[in-house]
Amino acid sequence: MRRIALLGATGSIGRQALEIVEAHPELELVAAASGSQDVTGLAPLTQVGGDLTGLLDRAEPDIVLNAVVGFAGLPATLWALERGVTLALANKESLVAAGDLALAAQRRGGGALLPVDSEHSALHQCLEGHSPESVESIVVTASGGPFRGRTRAELEDVTPAEALAHPTWAMGPKITVDSATLANKGLELIEAHFLFGLPYDRIEVVVHPTSVVHGLVRFRDGAALAHLGYPDMRVPISYALTYPDRSATPVPSLDLAGGLTLEFSAPDLETFPLLSLARRAGERGGTYPCAFNAANEVAVAAFLAGRLPFLGIADAVEEVLAAVDGAPARDLDDLVEADAQARRLLEPVA
Ligand code: NAD
Ligand code: MG
Repeated sequence: MRRIALLGATGSIGRQALEIVEAHPELELVAAASGSQDVTGLAPLTQVGGDLTGLLDRAEPDIVLNAVVGFAGLPATLWALERGVTLALANKESLVAAGDLALAAQRRGGGALLPVDSEHSALHQCLEGHSPESVESIVVTASGGPFRGRTRAELEDVTPAEALAHPTWAMGPKITVDSATLANKGLELIEAHFLFGLPYDRIEVVVHPTSVVHGLVRFRDGAALAHLGYPDMRVPISYALTYPDRSATPVPSLDLAGGLTLEFSAPDLETFPLLSLARRAGERGGTYPCAFNAANEVAVAAFLAGRLPFLGIADAVEEVLAAVDGAPARDLDDLVEADAQARRLLEPVA
């Protein structure tokens, strides 16, 4: 039996995780939490809002599936890593914001960190069993989102409803907007840096509109291994919860004879500046990634509330990154302050 604590149980990832847990008698849901929606009866221990680490203390899970959205997921990420409890991580924002602190906690705890983000799950699978010296670079694919192919001028007046219409993935509102701006790929670039220990110049982002290839690893002998599958988060969720086994899921296998379109192209960095802003924040290190994430969270919420135009999201993030000093966080207090400082800078739109 594996005891699972599911945080963010009412969200897009959370609901799909419930389906996976229900299908596996060996997975036992011991705790479930949400930010504001009712979770009564989902698990023996439940909590709505507040500090989730108390719930985790009481639940004593074998696996924490962190599917909270945003910086709010950080305490749970650190709780699991510090204790060596397996962390199935969908909440990429916590790893982006706290990268160095999170990895230090993982070294002390000695537990597994299994990515649930589809691209990182794919890369984890392609990298497994290969020596770090044999790896040349990794490739994270991006669908390009609903505005792929548009110019900046064509993005001036786009509405939240248009940004929320993702071509290949059905997800929560925050990550869907992040996919439209390519901030999501920026977060994933930083996430990949911390998960796989590669410098940024060995992590490539390519646009692949059908989202069938989730990630590729290039090796020094000229070979590349890719991970393919229909875009369905139940696959990476199931992989993380049943690792190292591979359990059956209801997801159909690829229909190759029916025709598959595998096209790749470079991202349009001029139209979608958040990808380059994330790369620069990641390369500068310290609390720049934390500031990038905080500013993006505030700006996305402002866009969804109609207080900021679509292109204003990148402007807001750029402004914040120019204003902060990015000094490394020595501890969680420093990090929480860096997050708060970035948010304060955007108070006029928040
Ligand atoms: P969502 O908005 O659908 O769900 C978010 C969940 O977090 C909800 O259950 C909500 O109640 C909970 N939550 C929010 N604030 C909270 C708080 N302060 N305390 C406790 N719970 C809180 O989001 P989602 O699409 O499921 O995404 C969740 C995470 O997974 C995000 O970090 C996202 O980037 C990542 N992710 C999602 C997908 C996807 O397909 N949806 C894919 C890859 C990664
Ligand atoms: Mg992803």
